[in-house]
Amino acid sequence: MRLILLLLLIIFAGCAAPGKQNDLQQAVKFAERPKNIILLIGDGMALSQVSAGIYWIGTGKTSFEKFPVVGFHKSHSCDDLVTDSAAGATAFSCGQKTTNGMIGMIAPDNKPCRTILEDLDARGLATGMVVTCSAPHATPASFIAHREIRAFTEEIALDYLKTPLDCFIGGGEHYFNDRPDKLDLEDSLRQRGYVIRRGTSLRGLPLDGSAPFMLFTADREPPTASADRKYLPAATRNVCEYLKKRSDKGFFLMVEGSQIDWACHANDRNWLRAELFDFDRTIKEALEFADMDGETLVIVTGDHECGGLALTEGPSRREFKPVFATRLHTAALVPVFAYGPMAEVFNGLYDNTEIYKKMWSALGVR
Ligand code: MG
Ligand code: ZN
Repeated sequence: MRLILLLLLIIFAGCAAPGKQNDLQQAVKFAERPKNIILLIGDGMALSQVSAGIYWIGTGKTSFEKFPVVGFHKSHSCDDLVTDSAAGATAFSCGQKTTNGMIGMIAPDNKPCRTILEDLDARGLATGMVVTCSAPHATPASFIAHREIRAFTEEIALDYLKTPLDCFIGGGEHYFNDRPDKLDLEDSLRQRGYVIRRGTSLRGLPLDGSAPFMLFTADREPPTASADRKYLPAATRNVCEYLKKRSDKGFFLMVEGSQIDWACHANDRNWLRAELFDFDRTIKEALEFADMDGETLVIVTGDHECGGLALTEGPSRREFKPVFATRLHTAALVPVFAYGPMAEVFNGLYDNTEIYKKMWSALGVR
């Protein structure tokens, strides 16, 4: 009997362990509306990936638990319950559902759609993207390019010359300087005033806001977080400060934890774990900037679930065993976390296209 009581006590004590939650938002006075938007996309990150991240990092210790507002989105594309990242990101960037594989174009007549990044750029806001994939990969591409098929990567790279993006940090340099058509896109960008750098060091970049820049972190795809890729959190923070200097009208920054998806496709739990740690640190940087700035809305979501991840009973009561049901994407709902001015508009359950509309309504435009 005493043993049972003791066991019960231990269990209840364990359950009652308080998480440090929402201690940030009370301390900060936010503006009524945001001037800046940071949209952080965990590719392939839905509720089970976020759950795994929380238990791996330590409950109460993650950035996810600092958000006062959480919603859910329905990730399906226009004709498929299971979306891909092209249709998924186009829903965020253009506010319309399209068919899988399309980049910034709407089915069935394949009309290019104006993205929020392009529109805000045209309104004089500074714009940037920081990712852990190559520049023409589906998610960043869907904010700046317009192509029928995501595999048209050489053509997608050309679209980077059409929008005066203030900065890009990510991989895929060979799409710009070693092309089958022999065009030197780096040279074209330099002629437009861009500073082009290679590597993961932020030194030598015009972070004072004096020029636009591209920092290529890899010739092809950047390494995995489990192979010691580290740049995403610091790059995100520095780009926030940089974009703030680039325009007093505000900025739009898209940050992608691109490889959460790839880890799930590979059903690789160690890779997924490293990517979630990296993405959590990145969100932390965005939140710290938002707290200092007071006029920044931070949105964190995924484009879809990947791997059919389940958190099953683990080797001990405090550990889970991640089990993958598939090597493909699934149709599970995806959580949306919002922080800062007008965060409350992201409450509820809605289509992925609403994220686009909610960003505009938060800004007070349209
Ligand atoms: Mg992606
Ligand atoms: Zn995927």
